[in-house]
Amino acid sequence: MRYIEPHGHMVSRTTDDYQAMVMAGCAAVCEPAFWAGYDRKNAHGFYDYFLQLTEYEPRRAKKYHLPHYTWLCINPKESEDTKLADDVIALIPDLLSKPNVLGIGEIGLNKNSRNELLILEKHLQLAADHDQLVLVHTPHLEDKLKGTRLILDAIQNFSTLRPERVIIDHVEEHTAPLVLDRGFWAGITLYPESKATPHRAIDMLELYGHEHIWLNSACDWGHSDPLAVPRTALEMRRRGYDANFIDQILYQNPLQFLSQNPRFKV
Ligand SMILES: [Zn+2]
Repeated sequence: MRYIEPHGHMVSRTTDDYQAMVMAGCAAVCEPAFWAGYDRKNAHGFYDYFLQLTEYEPRRAKKYHLPHYTWLCINPKESEDTKLADDVIALIPDLLSKPNVLGIGEIGLNKNSRNELLILEKHLQLAADHDQLVLVHTPHLEDKLKGTRLILDAIQNFSTLRPERVIIDHVEEHTAPLVLDRGFWAGITLYPESKATPHRAIDMLELYGHEHIWLNSACDWGHSDPLAVPRTALEMRRRGYDANFIDQILYQNPLQFLSQNPRFKV
């Protein structure tokens, strides 16, 4: 089988993880900028992180013959400090020309605060000004439904940001229809403890169709599984889905979305 890991925080993972992913059929990995497990003190910390995402990590992935792409932003958690967020956003335009950058992400909301929303809007302006794809993180648990609505409304205030160029990630049963009905792409994140399990993800595919949806593992610094996507393929086989269906969901769907940026090649 072949698959694309469209959302993996590889700076947190080991070389064994890279090897296992490639052996399981991974054809490309995409790494949105996110929280590093601690709050960075200033914009220099982010600049170094952006260089890690655009220079060092692609070289590390290349040792395993895996194309590595990235998305740039300051994540919603650290956006609470709006002065820091402004300084970080100012760094991004010069870095958009790096050959592995696919767009702006993962932006969004964490606690649905006023400051987070303000910085989300600044990122959306940045994406609109530079004609970038957008990858959005939605909040956890009790904040998810309200946060998703706030995010969709904020995006739709920008007439030049077309919904088919925006993916709303970490959707669950109660948010997937909102996202898909408005013409956005939806990402389902497979996590061992929170977000979606393989069973729930496949249930959602059965409920909401299999177009404009991708699956990802997120595989970050916390408890997560870099092989969650191929593990879900095995579960699909158990439910009787054939290889063509699995290929469509795990390979062709992310390829269709990501190829809207001509830099993305597998
Ligand atoms: Zn993430």
